[in-house]
Amino acid sequence: MKKKKNIAIVAHDNRKKDIIEWAEYNWKELVPHDLICTGTTGKLIEEALTLKCMEENVVPPTVTRLKSGPLGGDQQLGALITEGAVDILIFFWDPMQPQPHDVDVKALLRITVLYNIPTASNRSTADFIVSSSLFHESYQPILKDYSGYISRDVDM
Ligand code: PGA
Repeated sequence: MKKKKNIAIVAHDNRKKDIIEWAEYNWKELVPHDLICTGTTGKLIEEALTLKCMEENVVPPTVTRLKSGPLGGDQQLGALITEGAVDILIFFWDPMQPQPHDVDVKALLRITVLYNIPTASNRSTADFIVSSSLFHESYQPILKDYSGYISRDVDM
């Protein structure tokens, strides 16, 4: 991943307040990067960061908005990860309530492990990620070699 990163940000409804507080607090860290969010999270993040940046006379980061999570936004993010278009995932999921798209959430989290994507599900981890010296540097995540998996023998 390059110095300028593609950071995916998602929050379930009960965690949206937390993600906005976190993004406002860390706005300076986020500004140099490009953000990719699910629909509603993206709207709130864009509003909050645009306001912060206007106050500080700084150009706000680009926020790409995908579909809302329950409408397939998590799956879109998963697909982007497989294409190398997402470097980091900040995903504040709700530990207290089931979601209509729980299977999509599980699939997204699985893909982050498969592709060795730094992932934060809570504020402390998100703080550790943005304060890491690697956050503003280029970095090459080591990927497991699954090439044998593609050409494995399958009994038909
Ligand atoms: P939202 O989707 O940002 O559109 O609310 C997030 C989710 O529920 O996964």
